[in-house]
Order: sequence, then C-alpha cells, then structure tokens
Amino acid sequence: MNNLTHLIDKLNSEHILSKAEFTELIGNHSPEDAKYAAKLARSICDHWYGKKIYLRGLIEFTNFCKNDCLYCGIRRSNQKGDRYRLTKDEILECSDMGYDLGFRTFVLQGGEDLHYTDEIMCDIISSIKSRHPDTAVTLSIGEKTYDQYKKYFDAGADRYLLRHETANETHYSKLHPKEMSLTNRKQCLFDLKEIGYQVGTGFMVGSPYQTPEYLAEDFIFIHNLQPAMVGIGPFVVHHDTPFKDKKNGTADLTTFLVSLLRIMLPYALIPATTSLGTIDPQGREKGILAGANVLMPNLSPTSVRKKYMLYDNKICTGDEAAECRLCLKNRIEAIGYETVIDRGDVAVTPLD
Ligand code: SF4
Repeated sequence: MNNLTHLIDKLNSEHILSKAEFTELIGNHSPEDAKYAAKLARSICDHWYGKKIYLRGLIEFTNFCKNDCLYCGIRRSNQKGDRYRLTKDEILECSDMGYDLGFRTFVLQGGEDLHYTDEIMCDIISSIKSRHPDTAVTLSIGEKTYDQYKKYFDAGADRYLLRHETANETHYSKLHPKEMSLTNRKQCLFDLKEIGYQVGTGFMVGSPYQTPEYLAEDFIFIHNLQPAMVGIGPFVVHHDTPFKDKKNGTADLTTFLVSLLRIMLPYALIPATTSLGTIDPQGREKGILAGANVLMPNLSPTSVRKKYMLYDNKICTGDEAAECRLCLKNRIEAIGYETVIDRGDVAVTPLD
C-alpha cells in the first residue's frame, strides 16, 4: 500500500507542500496515512491549546439571502424555504442566555440579507459588546465592501468567517451563479485581515466537481492567507437545490483534511463542524481527535432552527441551547477533552 507519511512529515517541518505534493497526498493517502496524520495533528493541537475545546454560540439570525449559490438550501431561488429574521431584541436574548450558559464568543451568521443595514448591524454588535464586554463577536454575513467591514469592526466585531469554498476559478463557477466572483471573495478575506479582524475561511469537502488538485489549491490559498480560523465540513446535499442528486462528502476525507490543516497551521482554530456531525453520528468527536479544537453549538431559538437548513438532516435543530451545551460537554469529556469558558482567541505561542 502507498505510504505517504514522508509528505505528512514534510508538511510538518515546512508547513507547505507543492501543489503536486498536496494533490498526491490528498488523492492517494491510505487509512494508515490518515491515522498517522491524525495522531500528529492531535499532538500539535495539544501543544498549542492543551485539552481545551472552545465553544462558539451560533446565532443564525436570518435565512434570507440575495445570493443563489447552487449548493445552498437558503439560496434565493428556493421558493420552499420558510424565511425568518430575528429582531435585535431576539438576538440580544440569545446572547444573554448564551452568556449565562458560559459562552464567551457569539457568531452572528446569516444569509446576505439587505434588511440588516450597516446601522442595524453596528447597533446589534455594539449592544452585545456593551452587555457582555468580555465576549468576542464573530460575524458570518458574507461579502461586503471594505468600508462596511470597517464599520462593523469599529462597532466592536472581533472576528469574521467567510469561507472561500474553492480557490479554483473553474470550480467556483460551477458552484456559484455568474454574478458571484472568486476574485472578490478572496479580496474580501484580505480586506478583513488588513482591517484587523481574526479571519476565518474554509471550504466544503466533496462538493460537486471537486478534485484532489482543486483541494491542493485550497491548501495553498489558505497557506497564503494565514487565517486564524479554518472551517471545513463535508458537502451535504439539500433536496431543494440544483445539486439534489449529487453525492455527499465523506467524514473520512474531511477528518484527514482537518489533520492536514492542523499540521500546516499549528495555531489555527479549527471547528469540528455540524455538517461533520450530520453525516456521521461521531463526526464531531472524530474531528476533534483529528486535530480540531472548536465546536459551534446553536443558540438560535428552537422555533427557527429547522428553517436554517443549508443542507438536509442537519443535527441539533430540536434541543434547547442548555441541552446542547450539556450534550457537547459530555461528548467531549468522553474522549478526554474539556469545553472551556473562554473567548478562545487564536494562540500566539504554544503552551510549552
Ligand atoms: S451559501 Fe451563503 S451566500 Fe450562498 S446562498 Fe447560501 S447563505 Fe447565501
């Protein structure tokens, strides 16, 4: 059987591989290579962050979106979507309840919804920060202009998540409508960094038309960006999208890529994503054992959870936030880790 541990070792010592090397490693690794990478990735993560797993309270505040990404269940063309928006007061209630449960980061996530003007967004951000000054506010609301990102930052936002989804132009054009541009998306990420945000990017694993070569380009793009956070999860089909007949990504490839990301970016904050937990009941635990160190449970009101369906069969849409918090604590302790009350900023130096 192919043994590619020399490439994993090279990634560990140089923190980058050539496109050909990444393609070989991603396309031809064996289960033994994946085990080797997971063990190494986990030891690197323990070195930087110990046994701590950081929790981010996710508030999905709108499922309206002006965009039409082909893979997404809340794309504007999906007439069957049951749309909702949370008011400022509802968002603040979620953050108050999350704070009481021990969350010190709130992620405001939504489609690109023009209802939330810059004024409304800045008011929401500054209100959360004034009620809970020891928390971090993360935004995940898509592509905006430099000036808009700056306004949110000045209002108190600390972090921004914007997955690039694929770093390859041809692939990008197969996943998105013509009016969306990969160049603009990449520029947004560099703008966010320049403004001073802790920036997160990422991609779907196993998205339609993806190849090991395209994934190699994702790794090289991420290496060049040097983000604080990288979120990857398997592509999961949504039945009301043009990709309804495509295949889901796999937990095995996702966890292997989590390990490679950890080895390439030792300090990064890497979530074990909800989509990983959706395609495999032990997916989030596997993600942590492969090198992830973040979980993002849902704080949105249960009345709207099922409506934020980016993909089919999403887990944790029925439980109250307190139940989710306890469930995750128990699951994480069962594999030898601990959930912590902490903002969980990106590490600048390893623990030892
Ligand atoms: S992926 Fe994001 S930008 Fe694209 S349609 Fe879905 S919510 Fe909108």
